[in-house]
Amino acid sequence: MPTFYLTTPIYYINGKPSIGHAYTTIAADILARYHRLCGDEVFFLTGTDENSQKNVEAAQKIGRENDMQGYLDEMAGRWKATWKDLEITTDRFIRTTESDHLNAVEKFWKTVETKGDIYKGTYEGWYCKGCEAFVNEGDLVDGKCPNHLTEPARIKEDNYFFRLTAYRELLLHYIEEHPDFILPKSRRNEIVSYIKDFMTDISISRSSVKWGIAVPGDESHRIYVWFDALINYLTGVGYGTDEKQFEKWWPAQLHLVGKDIIKFHCALWPAMLLSAGLPLPKHVFAHGFFTIDGQKMSKSLGNVIDPLDVVQIYGNDVLRYFLLREIRFGEDGDYGHARLEERYDSELANELGNLVHRVCTMTEKYFGGKIPAHTPHDISVAIKTYHMGLEMFAFHDALDAIWSLVREANLLVEQKKPWVLAKEEKTEELAQTLYTLLELVRVIGVLLLPFMPKAAQTLLSKLSASPASNVTLDDLLVWGQLAPGTLITKGDPLFPRRETTT
Ligand SMILES: [Zn+2]
Repeated sequence: MPTFYLTTPIYYINGKPSIGHAYTTIAADILARYHRLCGDEVFFLTGTDENSQKNVEAAQKIGRENDMQGYLDEMAGRWKATWKDLEITTDRFIRTTESDHLNAVEKFWKTVETKGDIYKGTYEGWYCKGCEAFVNEGDLVDGKCPNHLTEPARIKEDNYFFRLTAYRELLLHYIEEHPDFILPKSRRNEIVSYIKDFMTDISISRSSVKWGIAVPGDESHRIYVWFDALINYLTGVGYGTDEKQFEKWWPAQLHLVGKDIIKFHCALWPAMLLSAGLPLPKHVFAHGFFTIDGQKMSKSLGNVIDPLDVVQIYGNDVLRYFLLREIRFGEDGDYGHARLEERYDSELANELGNLVHRVCTMTEKYFGGKIPAHTPHDISVAIKTYHMGLEMFAFHDALDAIWSLVREANLLVEQKKPWVLAKEEKTEELAQTLYTLLELVRVIGVLLLPFMPKAAQTLLSKLSASPASNVTLDDLLVWGQLAPGTLITKGDPLFPRRETTT
């Protein structure tokens, strides 16, 4: 069985998950569900970055700096609970304070040290607290970090360094040879220019920091949080604890990240792996950011959206659908409740929900609720587009392909007018039309399984077509699986019309 190992970033837990974190995690969940349906063996990793100074500062604010582990346990629990409420199907939730991660980091450090890629030196330069990163002069805009709009601190420390520049040529060569390593492709140039012109050796320890993983053999230093955090992708699948498991899953097929951390994933991380003699992940995909009703999402503006608040009103399926439909994955976009409601009304209630309800109603009315005789039909274009979309992380293309079938079915109703066919007693044409519609609805339900798992299941159960657990997507997408004579169950509309106040 082919394996598919995918990861989200591990998140800081100095606050609760926002809709931005949910965006990344939901996208990963859709891919995980898609690949499981395709018959791949999937490992989906997410988790929490617990060795960050940001966590320490958050604990200090509420007077819990002497109870760091307790604070982290509580926050990690909240994050875990949110992913559960959002029905995220992770295979492991990793915490970087877990003992197997400490082992993995130690093993990794020693491997790289033995290779000769760690040396002691003095770091003098800029450090952005927000990024938790040493920043180059060239990264600053008007002396400020462009991500945080704050002035970085000037620091001077004796640190351990990683010989990042030793991998410059190898990295450039790898990126050249693997055009799908950095996705979307539009981001490749910024990475290449960084590696060519700006990349320096990097300090990978801090002596002024107390929280974090100690440098093996030197308790007075804590490992730089990014160096430790990136290794979670190895720990998650057994590095340092279960070599068999590790060999099975590594390298990852996909690291899904936000565009602000792509440099860490496409320069530092692959260099670390090359140094440790490990293969590189197949893809790193950086998604864009979205504003909220045109404004940057920020705590100070008070417009940070809790995904659970959205889910409470509209449900998980609607949130998942909207996020991946509204914003082209990889590009920036905007999130707004008004837009969500527009899409709910026009696409989910009207186009999809209404279609399913009408088709079931007509089947009841004209065929006593029984599925009529088989009719052939060609849906290969939509299915090909759907697969290509999901293989290349273009969720919007996959959803477009599904909606092309929704619109085709609605058009078929308008053109054939089954009620006229019934009146004119054109029974054969009526049966053919309804079979085509029912099968289109079934295929739409199958294609929606990764995107809107609950709604898709409900839809399929109306047609007595709930998929067995061992059947693959390709099998389910073969046309003509509804068995004539099977009784359907109309039930309630899938996406009921919202009660509007106007
Ligand atoms: Zn910054």
